[in-house]
Amino acid sequence: MLPKVRLPDTRRMITLEVLGRTRTTANFTTVTLGGPGLEHFRPTGDDQTVRLFFPRDGQDGLRMPTFNNEAWMAEVLLLPKSRRPWVRNFTIRRARPEQGEVDIEFALHAGSPASSWATRARPGDPAGIFDMGVSYLPPAGVDWQLLVGDESALPAILAILENAPESLIAEVFLEVPETADIRDEVVKPEGARVHWLPRDDSSARPGSRALETVTKAALPPGRCYAWLAGEAKLPTGLRRHLVNERGLPKQDIAFYGYWRLGRSSPG
Ligand SMILES: Cc1cc2nc3c(=O)[nH]c(=O)nc-3n(C[C@H](O)[C@H](O)[C@H](O)COP(=O)(O)OP(=O)(O)OC[C@H]3O[C@@H](n4cnc5c(N)ncnc54)[C@H](O)[C@@H]3O)c2cc1C
Repeated sequence: MLPKVRLPDTRRMITLEVLGRTRTTANFTTVTLGGPGLEHFRPTGDDQTVRLFFPRDGQDGLRMPTFNNEAWMAEVLLLPKSRRPWVRNFTIRRARPEQGEVDIEFALHAGSPASSWATRARPGDPAGIFDMGVSYLPPAGVDWQLLVGDESALPAILAILENAPESLIAEVFLEVPETADIRDEVVKPEGARVHWLPRDDSSARPGSRALETVTKAALPPGRCYAWLAGEAKLPTGLRRHLVNERGLPKQDIAFYGYWRLGRSSPG
């Protein structure tokens, strides 16, 4: 079996501050974080995930957990809401350690805590991170890779492509809310083909277009490592298809429900 996640050897709660905010495309905003605490963060590239802590409306500061292990969750949940921070999963989209900066890219959606915070974040606002490691762990000996995600997994997939060896052969399916979210330039190996799948229909379920497209796609022969993430029905539905209809061994598929339609993340 493939390990599901590679955790960092050491990690700690890190308090940072917002350095800037950029509207990346119609439905994405990138927030840049930095500050002295960043010296304790080891960027690895790929889909490196962090727990992102940020204050709730009305709080005048960020109260970070003190535990540097998984006990932080209980610590946070025991705090009264008046002092408890929001905590959500996000990917390190890009790290520039020499400049003391990391970017997190938010797929925006109406009225949620993370989207509201990201669209209003101002330089100097506090935010915290806790490294959760990487889940993109292709085994040796695969011929090609299948990378599929909706907008929530776009930062991870673009970071994976930027970090990939020139020898990577990949079919990449990226579903985004609108045509205006398609990136003009993607840094990637030549053998990685990116298929943009804009929904352009606000009533369509996120992930549905990618699920339908990949299910019908002609895919290359040979041993494949598949990395699938997004709204829960996309990775679970696609994994079922790849195992049952295409005969992929389960151990060659990494699949992650990044969020669930109609359900808030805990925390
Ligand atoms: C390992 C990992 C890495 C992730 N990396 C990123 C990343 O880099 N960028 C990113 O944008 N997301 C990323 N996500 C997904 C993100 O954690 C969730 O989308 C999370 O729910 C966002 O919190 P929120 O406060 O916006 O919404 P919540 O409070 O959790 O949810 C509020 C409502 O919004 C809905 N919702 C949640 N996410 C979305 C969405 N993307 N589109 C439409 N509706 C949504 C929920 O169903 C719910 O009804 C990642 C998730 C995981 C597990």
